[in-house]
Amino acid sequence: MLVDQQLLRIPGPTPIPPSVERAMIQPMIGHRGQECKDLIQKLQPGLQAVFGTKQDVFIIAGSGTAGLETAVVNATQPGDEVLVIVTGAFGDRFAKICDAFERKTHRLEVTYGEAVDVKEVKNYLEQHPSIKAVFATYCETSTAVLNPVKEIAEVVHQSSNALFIVDGVSCVAGVETKMDEWGIDVLVTGSQKAFMLPAGLTFVSASKRAWDVIDSNSQPRFYLDLKAYKKNLDNSSTPYTPAVSLLYGLEQVLELFNEEGLEQVYERHQLMMEMTRAACKALDLPLLTSDQAASPTVTAVQPTDFDPEQFRKVVKKKFGLTLAGGQQHLKGKIFRIGHMGYCSPADVFQYISLIELGLILVGKKIDLGKGVAAAQAVYLDREVETNDL
Ligand SMILES: *Cc1c(COP(=O)(O)O)cnc(C)c1O
Repeated sequence: MLVDQQLLRIPGPTPIPPSVERAMIQPMIGHRGQECKDLIQKLQPGLQAVFGTKQDVFIIAGSGTAGLETAVVNATQPGDEVLVIVTGAFGDRFAKICDAFERKTHRLEVTYGEAVDVKEVKNYLEQHPSIKAVFATYCETSTAVLNPVKEIAEVVHQSSNALFIVDGVSCVAGVETKMDEWGIDVLVTGSQKAFMLPAGLTFVSASKRAWDVIDSNSQPRFYLDLKAYKKNLDNSSTPYTPAVSLLYGLEQVLELFNEEGLEQVYERHQLMMEMTRAACKALDLPLLTSDQAASPTVTAVQPTDFDPEQFRKVVKKKFGLTLAGGQQHLKGKIFRIGHMGYCSPADVFQYISLIELGLILVGKKIDLGKGVAAAQAVYLDREVETNDL
């Protein structure tokens, strides 16, 4: 096997486009100089377009979880009642962060594999009028569910004065996100998923309503104090040394989004999801989520007639294809295919074909080519619709 050929199809980290890799090897610059200010300034419009906001988007050196913690420590205070919608491991993480900072955490637990029903959010808020913030996961990576963030925002604002705080780490830049229009008060994402960068950056933006809370919040915080990031961004800088190489990479990523067009980026992700799901259905691979709740960035399969862990080992060993396993109680029960960021329909055909071979190797009886053919049919349907040859 070619050691250099890594077919990384997990829901983050994701592969890096060659032009982004090249951008990241530019010579180091001083982080207080004009070149760095120019770079930081240049990144804002692209980030704002991806977030769907006119607000500042802060760039913090840290993984996605640093962004989640930033949201908690800035937009809430100890003793605040908060509601966390838990649809999987990442909703659970948000709740654990709230617990760690002594918020009074209510959990709205949803069966793993399902999206939250907005009526339940509404009922919960009506019964608990003192809740000050609602936390949700946009794409729940552990179950491959896309939660209806736009609809949740609507009921949160209709039924309460709570802030609405969203973890968009595994889908922002892969699915449409309209922070301002939908009424998201704090939106967080990270660099190593649909942003096609290495791990190490988190992006955070806050609404005017959220800023009122952040500005008056006197609770202790230092590295993750958004007020410091705001003060510095007003001067095109960051309070602490930025991850300059990653910023160069981000500059190129935003250039790629611009060249392809964000609408096309989102359509590509939708198409890859539909191709992948059609293939799984044709191969008799049970999907964990319904079509309605499925995320365009990741697909979860829950096999009943073979061991997903053995299957993952086989495709890794034979082809260098890395698929993700399950988390928490889904460990050993599912496998997940990441199809976000630097991933195209051509890659989908490749992994489906390799998955078919892997299935045969673990002893599952399938008709070779059936999954690929189903994905091809989805692809051609779309091609006929758009007809842009
Ligand atoms: C990956 C991910 C995170 C962040 O994880 P880090 O390892 O801290 O980068 C947060 N939320 C979701 C939904 C994720 O998929």
